[in-house]
Amino acid sequence: MTTTATDTTQITEEQFEVDVRTFLDAHLPRRTAENFVWGQGSDYVGLFPERTPEEEASDVANAKEWARTVFDAGFGWITGPPTYGGRGLPRSYQRIYNSVAADYRTPSQSPFGIGLGMVAPTILAHATEEVKEAYLQPMHRSDIVGCQLFSEPAAGSDLASLQTRAVLDGDEWIVNGQKVWTSGAQYSDIGEIICRTDPDQPKHRGLTGFVVDMHAPGVEVRPLRQMTGGATFNEVFFTDVRIPDTHRLGDVNGGWAVALTTLMNERAAIGGGGGGVGLHSSQRLIELARAQGRANDPLIRQRLADVIIHDRVAAYTNLRSMAKIAAGQLPGPEMSLGKLSLTANMVRTYELLSSVLGPELIADNGRWGTYAWSEFLLGVPGMRVAGGTDEVMHNIIGERVLGLPKDPTPK
Ligand SMILES: Cc1cc2nc3c(=O)[nH]c(=O)nc-3n(C[C@H](O)[C@H](O)[C@H](O)COP(=O)(O)OP(=O)(O)OC[C@H]3O[C@@H](n4cnc5c(N)ncnc54)[C@H](O)[C@@H]3O)c2cc1C
Repeated sequence: MTTTATDTTQITEEQFEVDVRTFLDAHLPRRTAENFVWGQGSDYVGLFPERTPEEEASDVANAKEWARTVFDAGFGWITGPPTYGGRGLPRSYQRIYNSVAADYRTPSQSPFGIGLGMVAPTILAHATEEVKEAYLQPMHRSDIVGCQLFSEPAAGSDLASLQTRAVLDGDEWIVNGQKVWTSGAQYSDIGEIICRTDPDQPKHRGLTGFVVDMHAPGVEVRPLRQMTGGATFNEVFFTDVRIPDTHRLGDVNGGWAVALTTLMNERAAIGGGGGGVGLHSSQRLIELARAQGRANDPLIRQRLADVIIHDRVAAYTNLRSMAKIAAGQLPGPEMSLGKLSLTANMVRTYELLSSVLGPELIADNGRWGTYAWSEFLLGVPGMRVAGGTDEVMHNIIGERVLGLPKDPTPK
């Protein structure tokens, strides 16, 4: 890693901020005041990208180029342990980087969200030294991209029912089975997979986690087409795939704890996205009401205010989780509250949209910024399912916050 001129172990926050700004000034244009102007620019507001394979490959290549530039300048893993390629600085330095970078037009890093937000923290917490050394630095430089191989056709909310088998053969495990809804598997190099290693144990106890090479013989990735038209996730089939025992995460049959580490990070990543529809989109909603001649309708105004207020509430709820993480604590039900506030406000938003747009929401008449919202509408159900469904989040809040009796689980 090439670091900036300053001694990274001694660097003050003030000097760090100067270094960040110097680096970003050298590579990116600044954001101008992005006041939304109705009818100008792209009217895309979808939640899942709609791309051809060629467009996706180009987006991933651009994302990688930027990730490498950032890493090589010393800003790719600011808080990571130096032993594994991180810079070993406190979280406050990451916050400085994020807040300065918000002033610049940074290329999207979304292809690495799952790998860096969920898989890498799990590797750091549970993997062998060999795996930490082999993968953590390349993941933060985007030389290796990771995906999450948890869900199966008959195991989603009830993840512990999963059936993909791993059987020990010498110092390797042989994996057979099927995963589903694997986001980004098509461009991933490794996957965090949870397998059943002891079918005779109670279901939460017979599971083990591994890091699997997505290019290994016997791994087959098949894209799944969504109702929005794109294909951002996949089915992944495993036929006699060999994983070295060194690539095991945690103990044999200790995979449930490994999965929980990842799921905690997943809820933080989804809920922590700022909450609600975001101020930029709020501005779009206000302008949409104006363009439709509905801005003076008292009911529409009330519902707009409701969406924007809940957007702020969701953002503050997420800040509570982030504050706990910053203080070195493990957030619990706050993650579920954060995720639920995000999706509840998405539902409020599409209800508002259907009142403001009426049939224009589902019939394209070519008007800028109207039918485009149909992509948002079609993406909301996926958001209500990904990372734990709304109903499962309600159960967690009911049990852990309100102290209600536990959800009965079928044997
Ligand atoms: C956009 C998106 C991306 C995803 N990416 C990935 C990925 O990268 N890797 C991965 O492994 N998985 C991924 N998933 C899968 C996701 O984790 C599962 O869809 C989710 O856990 C729900 O599982 P399921 O689809 O099997 O639904 P089920 O668990 O079968 O649920 C069906 C319905 O039953 C309800 N339900 C289930 N249990 C209860 C209960 N106890 N109480 C009340 N209601 C209940 C649910 O709320 C839901 O409405 C993704 C999903 C989406 C939508």
